[in-house]
Amino acid sequence: MRPHGLVPRLQPFTSTIFAEMTALAGRTGAVNLGQGFPDTDGPAGMLETARTAIAEGRNQYPPGPGDPELRDAIAEHRSAHYGLRHDPDTEVLVTVGATEGIAAALLALSDHGDEVLLVEPYYDSYAAAVALAGARRRTVPLVYDGDRFALDVDALRAAVGPSTRVLLLNSPHNPTGTVFTHTELAALAGLAVEHDLLVVTDEVYEHLTFDAASHVPLATLPGMAERTLSVSSAGKTFSATGWKIGWVCGPAALVAAVRAAKQFLTFVGGAPFQPAVAYALRSELDWVARHRAALQDKRHRLADGLRAAGFGVRRSEGTYFVCADIRDVAADLGLSSDGVDFCMALPAAAGVVAVPVSVFVDDPEPWRHVVRFAFCKRDEVLDEAVYRLTSVCRHVPHGVSAPGECC
Ligand code: PMP
Ligand code: GLN
Repeated sequence: MRPHGLVPRLQPFTSTIFAEMTALAGRTGAVNLGQGFPDTDGPAGMLETARTAIAEGRNQYPPGPGDPELRDAIAEHRSAHYGLRHDPDTEVLVTVGATEGIAAALLALSDHGDEVLLVEPYYDSYAAAVALAGARRRTVPLVYDGDRFALDVDALRAAVGPSTRVLLLNSPHNPTGTVFTHTELAALAGLAVEHDLLVVTDEVYEHLTFDAASHVPLATLPGMAERTLSVSSAGKTFSATGWKIGWVCGPAALVAAVRAAKQFLTFVGGAPFQPAVAYALRSELDWVARHRAALQDKRHRLADGLRAAGFGVRRSEGTYFVCADIRDVAADLGLSSDGVDFCMALPAAAGVVAVPVSVFVDDPEPWRHVVRFAFCKRDEVLDEAVYRLTSVCRHVPHGVSAPGECC
């Protein structure tokens, strides 16, 4: 007889690395560059619109698919930005953050015996959502090509089998900061069409790309619109991660499938936030452009500081995150070069919290020495973290590149 308690398929998912590392920062007083949330607010007009919505009584259940005003704004936004046309009534679904959108999509589209193909490292909720659906995950690692973490299309092709049902792709990619190129996306699209795969794309960082990198939704590639569900979030675009307003766009039949699952997870969420996000999508894109530029500077600021402290900083082309090779610093500090042990010890050794990338993979070997730092923080917070790290790290890097040169 099975003991009472958590079902076996959910037993690997009893806590999240983000909650653990934020708690560790709280206990130790370390600077929290672990969990990716901004420490400043989104556009003032958006916040004011939410306050007004509450004051005006928009506090009861919104319609199941989402506030019509928000669905209209989402459809307009995707048409203006990407040339993708969606019927706001049937092809747009508002969800409780991207997390619910992704979980509902996997619950709706994958079943027992189906495989969901993930690129690793993968955002932590993916594996749990695949398990909730009772499906199996198969993962293919990104490979470091000496410049960036790149997609291994041949390995992906080799991983597709008769049970592969869904491909779940995240770009801009958390935790590496990779933004997949048009060539990488075209290869993926070819694979999806060839094997008739459904595709779920996690595009929560769609507006947070740096330098020459730009985000291309996979749904814009030939043959993809009819098989792709694109997932977005106001949390990242408008620095409101606690509002949990996300959305899923795609063909009506697939969106209807996601809605069927979603309505029994939460039914609806965030009534007064929905008009505020509609307002922001229509009126605050200049704020987003400034935010993107500020984040790019923050990425430089933190990457330069990490490099000065002796970390092997990897290229970050988008998101809130930069990854770094810890081996030299670990040796200098007398710490383990295993990322999990290193991140547990770093608050005591240097007063900074980071996240080990190996917790986002099934095969930790290539990722053991890689950790992720979040730079979506105020400059003074980043400076304090860099000060603490450079103060304790004895390593004198050879041939330090000019500021910003390598990322
Ligand atoms: N996907 C990725 C890649 C993320 O980094 C996050 C969280 N920041 C999410 C999904 C979850 O988004 P939300 O908070 O809107 O649920
Ligand atoms: N997406 C955020 C990150 O990657 C954290 C979200 C969460 O705590 N669940 O850090």
